[in-house]
Amino acid sequence: MRLTVIGCSGSFPGPDSPASSYLLEADGFRLVLDLGNGALGTLQRHADLYGIDAVCLSHLHADHCLDLCPYYVARTFHPGGPRPRIPVYGPEGTASRMARSYGLDEPPGMTEAFEFLTLAPGTRRIGPFQVTTAHVNHPVETFGFRLEHAGRVIAYSADTGESAALIGLAREADLLLCEASLLDGPHLPRDLHLTAAQAAQHAARAGAGQLVLTHLVPWNDPARTLEEARGASFPGPISLAASGQVIDLG
Ligand SMILES: [Zn+2]
Repeated sequence: MRLTVIGCSGSFPGPDSPASSYLLEADGFRLVLDLGNGALGTLQRHADLYGIDAVCLSHLHADHCLDLCPYYVARTFHPGGPRPRIPVYGPEGTASRMARSYGLDEPPGMTEAFEFLTLAPGTRRIGPFQVTTAHVNHPVETFGFRLEHAGRVIAYSADTGESAALIGLAREADLLLCEASLLDGPHLPRDLHLTAAQAAQHAARAGAGQLVLTHLVPWNDPARTLEEARGASFPGPISLAASGQVIDLG
């Protein structure tokens, strides 16, 4: 299972990275997890746009879903004719929300380009992956993910405040890709995002093998994000996600 970080900038694109998007590959199957602002451009450095087999959207905040709009254009108006529909998994209301984002009437909205499938907590097969989803702690319906293939496990926090569900998803995972939007300080918002230290605490409680910090907001100092996470008693390796980074879990 191979993870490529397409975008790891939190809340809005940064100078060196699009907003949230990750490419998961196994057995020739390509799954895109989130498609935030700017991700469609960078995705083309790492995969054929028409070689994507499925898209999963963790939630409908713009920085996680909005590049489905240009992807709709790329699939619908290709000079060779519309490309075949591919599945897009997302929270309840994804099809309507994306149609409104592009100003499309419904029907059909984007349904001739994408087969919209509603996520619910539980486990399903998507291509070669076993995908387990659970609600995490964010102001809109948001799913965290556990992706399993050939005995290897990647967990993804999506956007979340402190969450027991995230610890469950990341249990004994080889890698936890966890948001670290906040730095320690007074008056931290609750039930919205994690600090870097909280991300490390979730990884420690889950017994994850390694922690990759993501959803890195451009106004934060990344060195401080890393330092705060490393001060939080997680025994495994901790690193910062970077656009273009490839992690091969074999
Ligand atoms: Zn969000």
